[in-house]
Amino acid sequence: MRYNGVVARVPGKVNLQLSVGPLGADGFHEVTTVFQAISLFDDVTVASSKAGDGVSINIFGQTASGVPIDNTNLAVKAAQLMIEKYDLPKDLAIKLKKEIPVAGGMAGGSADAAGVIVGLDSLYELGLSRDEMESVGATLGADVPFSICGGVAIGTGRGDQITPALAKGSYNWVLALSGQGLATQSVYKECDRLREGLSIALPSVSEPLMQALRAGDAKALGKSLINELQPAACSLRPALRLVLDVGNDYGALGGVVSGSGPTVAFLVSDDEHAMDLTVALSGSGVVSSVVRASGAVAGARIVESF
Ligand code: ATP
Repeated sequence: MRYNGVVARVPGKVNLQLSVGPLGADGFHEVTTVFQAISLFDDVTVASSKAGDGVSINIFGQTASGVPIDNTNLAVKAAQLMIEKYDLPKDLAIKLKKEIPVAGGMAGGSADAAGVIVGLDSLYELGLSRDEMESVGATLGADVPFSICGGVAIGTGRGDQITPALAKGSYNWVLALSGQGLATQSVYKECDRLREGLSIALPSVSEPLMQALRAGDAKALGKSLINELQPAACSLRPALRLVLDVGNDYGALGGVVSGSGPTVAFLVSDDEHAMDLTVALSGSGVVSSVVRASGAVAGARIVESF
């Protein structure tokens, strides 16, 4: 071990596509999703600590409020899993500097788990491949492998089987955040309720969307954004429809609820357009805050060793 600690920087994500298959016998839905990693980051520090201290966690940053500080925190779960699996020292101090919204459909908890996995691989020089780290991550949550991978990728299965996708260009996002999160499980449950009696096809990748990404065509991408959980998220949180309307009225290239929501992601053409929409959303009274981000960015990576 050359260092006492490392810092991993991990991005949040938006789902450019989220198609949801029928409810399976195991209680899960098969999904096909296209992720894009965007420039909102959690910084995850892992450092060795005094013998007997065990795993400790300390959380700060803009979105720290309400994040659990016990063993239910995904970062702690990731540390316990890695310690067990690779027989690592049991005393570890984790620090999370959070910028990714909590319970916002942007994979905040998954990002922190990914940061711990990549951080411990580096700290203890385990030499794990990205694939190995992604499979460890998949046991913790469906979005963890993508948080490790970053960029643009297709997720199948539960969204945890990741294939990087060919994508060109850089995209500007305006994100409308809600003060209160939505629990992923409740949104899936509402989705099942709304679909009762309907026959649901197996999900597949949207060809127009992939074509837009290959061409780096933001306008075409805006038109292809799709989230089959959106009706359920809007049903549980009707104000989201108003948020989507503001984006439409102000000429967003496209707008979509990210993942299970309630964050709404708007694709815009340039900085000026982003500014107009930010002002309109902020003044609308239907969102708690608005942030800007761009994508695609890299997945979890080490930015500091000490
Ligand atoms: P996803 O997009 O992967 O469905 P999300 O972004 O909607 O997830 P998270 O931010 O991961 O949601 O938070 C979901 C819940 O997980 C929170 O309400 C919180 O109680 C719990 N949680 C556990 N660990 C963390 C963490 N490190 N950061 C944020 N939330 C965490």
